[in-house]
Amino acid sequence: MQQYRFVLVAVDFSAHSMTVGQRAAQLARGQGARLGFIHVVEHIPMDFPNDIVIPEQLDGVEFLVEHATGRLQELAQKLGFPDAPRWIEVGSPKREITRVAEEQNIDLIVVGSHGRHGLGALLGATANGVIHYAHCDVLAVRIKE
Ligand code: AMP
Repeated sequence: MQQYRFVLVAVDFSAHSMTVGQRAAQLARGQGARLGFIHVVEHIPMDFPNDIVIPEQLDGVEFLVEHATGRLQELAQKLGFPDAPRWIEVGSPKREITRVAEEQNIDLIVVGSHGRHGLGALLGATANGVIHYAHCDVLAVRIKE
């Protein structure tokens, strides 16, 4: 079987992020592959009428991006990949994860089967969307109660 060369792990900073990260790190090491990290700061609706300016929301996005930058660096360090490439994007997680994967020639995306939205559905919406949109393989790490 062909080895993976570049693995991208999607991190939502839920309680399961370490489990998902560990699986991705283990896989990347086993395959001799590079490992990259991505977190997507989700959209805040911006389509307000022109006369309403809500600067706090813009600052909010900046704050979330900055916050995520530190947390992603911390996670990469804990997993033994301190110099791994990292992407913090703003928008729809499934679209941004698959867009970056395509641009960076990722051949495996690792997501958790579930994330911050709990275990309600069979497969979380982001995991489902990534599987749907990705042009490469996707590993959904099973998250249990
Ligand atoms: P969900 O489908 O939202 O329950 O999340 C399933 C998995 O998708 C999580 O375990 C993460 O691996 C990934 N994911 C969800 N939201 C994000 C996000 N905002 N940024 C990066 N990865 C995410």
